[in-house]
Amino acid sequence: MPHQPFLAPSSAGKSMSPIDRSVLELCQCHGISRRRFLEFCTAVTATLALPSGYAQVVATALSQKKKPVLVWLEFQDCAGNTESMLRTSHPTVEDLVLESFSWEYHETIMAAYGKAAESALERVVREEKGKYIVVVEGAIPTADGGVYCTIGGRTALDIAQEVCGSAAAIIAVGACAWDGGLVRSGPNPTGALGLQGAVPGLNVVNLPGCPHNSANTAAVLVHYLTFGQMPALDPLNRPLFAYGDIIHDQCERRAHYDAGRFVEEWDDEGARKGWCLYKMGCKGPEANYNCPTVQWNGSTSWPVKAGHGCIACASPRFWDTKSPFYERLPHPAGFGVDVTVSEIGWTVVGAVAVATAAHGITSIVRDRRSSEPTANQASEKTGSKEQQSREQR
Ligand code: SF4
Repeated sequence: MPHQPFLAPSSAGKSMSPIDRSVLELCQCHGISRRRFLEFCTAVTATLALPSGYAQVVATALSQKKKPVLVWLEFQDCAGNTESMLRTSHPTVEDLVLESFSWEYHETIMAAYGKAAESALERVVREEKGKYIVVVEGAIPTADGGVYCTIGGRTALDIAQEVCGSAAAIIAVGACAWDGGLVRSGPNPTGALGLQGAVPGLNVVNLPGCPHNSANTAAVLVHYLTFGQMPALDPLNRPLFAYGDIIHDQCERRAHYDAGRFVEEWDDEGARKGWCLYKMGCKGPEANYNCPTVQWNGSTSWPVKAGHGCIACASPRFWDTKSPFYERLPHPAGFGVDVTVSEIGWTVVGAVAVATAAHGITSIVRDRRSSEPTANQASEKTGSKEQQSREQR
């Protein structure tokens, strides 16, 4: 039985609504112990790259009942980011962090519909101006006045301008909301753009990925609840804690890459032994994301662990710039452009041989030097010889 989160207050009844409870209380309702809650606080503190002492500060923030109103706008997309958020059958603490917010509007999953749904959104913009958080999923068509995506008779562009323009914080989830994603890839007949492209000047936190990872969304919201501001961002407005490192540097198959052991065909011996997927088109060397550490499906796996190369879904315009997905990157990462992929292992072996030889030479020199007297020992020896000859005289 799937977990049923995010019931709109109007359908759930005020006394049953998750927003009346702190994250800790929600955990207890779902049979998650206080110990597990505190473990989550420690883990999310580490995910956010905060000093460990902040775990208690995070725990205190998540024990508060008062949390901001949140609205979720869904435009031109496949609803994959909503699916990613709803995927769980057993809620984790990060699911409950998301659930604990006062979700006033999410047209895909809210119980209310039609006029009632749209008036809920209007009420938030009117009564919570400057205080609510808006999450945007999907691209925004701009061609022909934006007519290719309308909700309640209004274009996505019009809704985004109004709702985002009055929000306290804006989070764009998924590749489409970030830079247009699949919808914007050629030939893009609807003139689709990401949120920042369609509505310039907004202060947006981007959580790209296809789909986004809701563990990162929960971490961003935890940071906002704890410190009243969004985490540090990279030049593309992506949180550094999630997009600061290259996948290739975090990958469990990296040792095979360095050793030149590659999967050559699907289901060959290398595939069965978990060798590197570079030759099968893996884009991990050019992709920034924390996929290998937060993982998916309850942190049980991620694409490369499951045997498929990374498609760099959190990279700019990845549908156009990183495809074909099954063609290898032109130059092996970490080596000069003159090195081919078949030479990687030998290059490493050569480098190891050179290093070993250098180590051997260094050791020989060191051993010889250690057998030679030091300057002090030499002067002592010289002194004692002079003393001996003086004594003999
Ligand atoms: S190329 Fe891909 S599979 Fe190979 S080590 Fe890098 S990220 Fe992992």
